[in-house]
Amino acid sequence: MSEEHLDLVIRGVAIYDGGGAEPSVGDVAIRGVRIAEVGAVARKGSREIEGRGLALAPGFIDVHSHDDFAVFTSPEMDFKVMQGVTTDVVGNCGLGVAPGAVGRAMFQGWTGAAQVPQWDDYAGYLEAFDREPASLNVAVLAGHGTLRAAAMGNECRPPAPHELDAMRRWLGDALDAGAVGLSTGLIYQPGCHANTEEIIELARELATRGGLYASHMRDEGAGLLDSIRETIRIGEEGGAPVQISHHKASGAENWGKVRESLALIEAARARGVDVTADQYPYTSGSTSLIAVVQNDALGEGRGGMGKVLPEGVLFASMPKHPEREGRRLKAMCDEWNVSGKEAAERIVNEEGVGAVVVVETMHEDDVRAVLRHPTTMIGSDGIAIGSRPHPRLYGTFPRVLGRYAREERLFSMAEGIRRMTSMAAEKFRLEDRGWIRPGYFADLVLFDPNKIADVGSYDSPRQYPCGIVSVIVNGRAVMSDGKHTGARPGRALRRG
Ligand SMILES: [Zn+2]
Repeated sequence: MSEEHLDLVIRGVAIYDGGGAEPSVGDVAIRGVRIAEVGAVARKGSREIEGRGLALAPGFIDVHSHDDFAVFTSPEMDFKVMQGVTTDVVGNCGLGVAPGAVGRAMFQGWTGAAQVPQWDDYAGYLEAFDREPASLNVAVLAGHGTLRAAAMGNECRPPAPHELDAMRRWLGDALDAGAVGLSTGLIYQPGCHANTEEIIELARELATRGGLYASHMRDEGAGLLDSIRETIRIGEEGGAPVQISHHKASGAENWGKVRESLALIEAARARGVDVTADQYPYTSGSTSLIAVVQNDALGEGRGGMGKVLPEGVLFASMPKHPEREGRRLKAMCDEWNVSGKEAAERIVNEEGVGAVVVVETMHEDDVRAVLRHPTTMIGSDGIAIGSRPHPRLYGTFPRVLGRYAREERLFSMAEGIRRMTSMAAEKFRLEDRGWIRPGYFADLVLFDPNKIADVGSYDSPRQYPCGIVSVIVNGRAVMSDGKHTGARPGRALRRG
């Protein structure tokens, strides 16, 4: 292979470089796994793609995913790749894969006895991915809930010094192995048992090694503003950059609070705290039904989700009663003649954490206010299980660009792309990704900017988006002319 050799040249395409500038028409050449040239490329490539009328963007980075196991159980990752995602950040909401035995036990509540490689720690997880790569890249957050469960089970008390030391040591090992930070799920057991000081202690570990702190906050309902303050304080005192996960105001009685939560983010940034957020562009969330019950969302709504109505709870995955998937909790209330809370408790007793639901919790105006804000990047929060997963699993990124950029003009296409590429790569420190620049990895999405759109709905979520033509990961096509190629060129991305 001569120095001059080019594997692929995409010609005459509107290039969105990822930085938010308006596109310029030109050529992009790839050699091996990286971008070789951008602009007017004189030499011919071994392969050429005519890009006229199409747009080329850096591959989309899903900063909020739960595909820790899915990358092994469905390595083609069609639901992500077909929407242009080339990198998944896993390990969100406190739910991590190590220590291995505990991580596996926690995930198996969702996935059943899935066949996955064995690993003990984050180094082992990333090495397992190197050996059995998926179609996209993966970066990993250590999950506080898993660390805490391994150190002290589900105890509702502060950790003893040796328990905190164990968490600190495992987190340090994770960061040394290349994890990009620590996530918490303070609305879930066992994370909810941790006080602020415990998390600050762990955040100090992040500061010494350069990882970020991502949080599914303690309360996204009535206590949203206190939770934002707590999250920022943890980053500020611990010395770590902060990522607020799936920023929202949950429960009708709390709608409108995002104006103040966004103002708190702005104020913190003004005093120098590196705080940003991510969001999925829908008015429904999705989580385990057990968390809805534990947060009393079907009762008084005094927990962290606010109040939820039985008609607003749709069954996404019910491993023991798949015939219920697609039905609503209200139907069970009517069938059993019980309250929403009682019906949910009965289902949780049967199904455990495996019962996953889609829950109507947000207002469209709030979703737009958060999305429009320049500190918001994009994360799907998709959970790849059941017959009726939340449509965000398949449609998040095309929905931002189609519905919210092109149709609603919340921001330009270029700005929408920035939120899912360079902004994400910079915050999560994914080296040489997130831009179309010579020397950067060739993670690319070729799409029709007039057609890109999500297709799935709550009733029919497992549908690929439209308008995406080709997706390239590390120089290799994983999707070509609208079809998955079966290629699995993904890499384990290690921080620094
Ligand atoms: Zn979460």
